[in-house]
Amino acid sequence: MDRPPSVDELARSLPNCDLPHAVLVEVARSAIKDGTHDRFPALVEQRRLRLLGPVINATGVLLHTNMGRAPLAHQTEAQYSNLELDLTTGQRGSRQRAVGELLATAAGAPAAMVVNNCAGAVMLALAAVAAGGPVAVSRGELVEIGGAFRVPDVMAWSGAQLVEVGTTNRTRLNDYRAAVEQHGAVAVLKVHQSNYRIVGFTEETTVQALASLDVPVIADIGSGLVDASCPWLEGKPPVWLEGEPAARQTLKAGADLITFSGDKLFGGPQAGIIAGRSDLVQRCQRHPLTRALRPGGLVLSALQETALAYLNRDGARIPFWQMASIRLADLEQRATQILSLATAEASARGLRPPTMELSTTEAVPGGGTLPTVTIESRGIRLLGNHVDALRQRTIPIIARVEDGGTVLDVRTITPHSDEYVAAALGTLGDEASP
Ligand SMILES: *Cc1c(COP(=O)(O)O)cnc(C)c1O
Repeated sequence: MDRPPSVDELARSLPNCDLPHAVLVEVARSAIKDGTHDRFPALVEQRRLRLLGPVINATGVLLHTNMGRAPLAHQTEAQYSNLELDLTTGQRGSRQRAVGELLATAAGAPAAMVVNNCAGAVMLALAAVAAGGPVAVSRGELVEIGGAFRVPDVMAWSGAQLVEVGTTNRTRLNDYRAAVEQHGAVAVLKVHQSNYRIVGFTEETTVQALASLDVPVIADIGSGLVDASCPWLEGKPPVWLEGEPAARQTLKAGADLITFSGDKLFGGPQAGIIAGRSDLVQRCQRHPLTRALRPGGLVLSALQETALAYLNRDGARIPFWQMASIRLADLEQRATQILSLATAEASARGLRPPTMELSTTEAVPGGGTLPTVTIESRGIRLLGNHVDALRQRTIPIIARVEDGGTVLDVRTITPHSDEYVAAALGTLGDEASP
């Protein structure tokens, strides 16, 4: 028999394939392991068919479970999708599979699954892993995040019993160990203090240290930073990310499961992701809560798009990262352009243009993440308070008041809206404007 090709060689053997290289590598690796590398193109095609995409429903079944029930109209024509249809076999498939696999690859996890939000992910992970048993949590991490995500409450609803360990400012490995050995804790939950910071005389136990305990470690990292090294960005990770826990590194440090939101730093739709050990993810998938928390096809297909962008190292296709990484020079140029278009608009309407200028601003990540962080930015500053007039436009423009002036930060304005914003600024003060 011929010597098998290298994984890399095999993965690169289909130059016209539109799947991300990381996925091709996975298929190649398992094909070589199974001795099926001579069927590589067919295996790749099978993998491609698992992706969500439009299908024509010719069954006459109007609400077909395997095709996402009612056809979906979302900024495109109505379409069915292969939500729960396995296109290789024609049988019922799993809505979790395709996106779960992509997310797992992106995060460097053996397995992953999706629920409706991170609160659901934490609840499900606790319910499935602890099954009503005691779970150790640091007193410094019994936090409230966002609208009413309170760790003690989520824990109670999961059926797990809360075993508080340590103190508000300091919790050591021995505190956790005592919870396991003396209170029979069957798991440890570590929660990232997303929206506040404890400073001063503090000590927390790392995931790496917790991994030395004999029970599963569940780490709720919250924001969904996929990889601390941000390979989807050109250049180095932004300094403002420092200290933010990342999926890949948290798993590498020894977390058995991690949970995070789809719509924070991950930059996708509202969703909750559970990633980590295959047996534990499977336990979550089999839990009855999974059905109650399962995401719809719209969310899954939007998540798939985001996951593919990560795997293709294409941060420009993830709006959050695109906005987060625009260079100051580009923002300055856009702000200048908006100013001159606004002036032109005003004079075309026979108005005196409002007093406005290019301004240095500070953007923030927001969304309950990185509470102390600001990102240097550029914007436009107008004399006087115009926030109500701007908010009442056909497409509302939300600006803020600062020192009696009105500030518009260009970083968060989608570039295709620049002209609309300029026109709005040019008509400010015009009572007759729509
Ligand atoms: C934001 C956040 C949550 C809640 O996430 P949702 O997706 O809004 O439910 C839970 N845990 C942490 C650590 C968070 O940062």
